[in-house]
Amino acid sequence: MPKLTVELYQSLHDALEARSAETGEPVAHIVTRALSEALGLDHATLFQVSTTGALVQGVYRGAMTLGRLKEHGDFGLGTFDGLDGEMVALDGEFYQVHSSGKIEKPADGALVPFAVVTNFRPARRAEVPAFTSLAELTAGLDALRRSDNLFFAVRIDGAFASMRTRAACRAGEGVPLVAATAHQAEFTFDNARGTIVGFWSPPYARSLNVTGWHLHFLTDDRKGGGHVLDCSGGPLEAAVQDLDDVRLAIPETREFLEADLTKDPTAALNIAEKCR
Ligand SMILES: [Zn+2]
Repeated sequence: MPKLTVELYQSLHDALEARSAETGEPVAHIVTRALSEALGLDHATLFQVSTTGALVQGVYRGAMTLGRLKEHGDFGLGTFDGLDGEMVALDGEFYQVHSSGKIEKPADGALVPFAVVTNFRPARRAEVPAFTSLAELTAGLDALRRSDNLFFAVRIDGAFASMRTRAACRAGEGVPLVAATAHQAEFTFDNARGTIVGFWSPPYARSLNVTGWHLHFLTDDRKGGGHVLDCSGGPLEAAVQDLDDVRLAIPETREFLEADLTKDPTAALNIAEKCR
């Protein structure tokens, strides 16, 4: 990590030391937190709209505008109103991968029923060994996690020998996710240059998020992408961010408020979201 050396007024220095002595928090933490707040960065926050439990039940109606979602992150993934394709957010630009394969940047008024975003500020970078499948890639990514109980964001830029993605097709409200994704559009790319945008969520978050790795992809030319089903390539460099602050925006749509969210969505998500 970069190091910063600055000159301080004696009084400010004394106040910092006093706060550190009082709370036991290292001076570097106090300064980093104060700087983040001053600059408007909540750098370790995962912000999520709705839950995967609701998505599994067919709650696809948009609950937040894209414009508001952008206030909470510059990097992430999700879907759009009516399960209309896949969201990939990268460097502050939000893309919609349609089931037709077409990609566009929706207007800020577009509605989002489910999304996970963060302000991506990676804490470390490391090489992921060559992989012949998504399972091998995620095993390589697992080695970069420092805990089974934190959330993580990952970004991988490079050339992928092969990439298979899907984009969900627009579905009617209340159609369960397994049925809705049974006729998804799938795309394959060879020697594709692009970026993987992803998150890892711990097992205890199983009713909220896709547990394990959830990866979306976008090509460098912004003409292809989607939810990653399989891929091969590498070795590639991965940038990883630890996320220790999770905020959940609970939709107040009638569909969400009346949905039966008592069930464990894990089995349905394994069918709808993982490699088949
Ligand atoms: Zn996805």
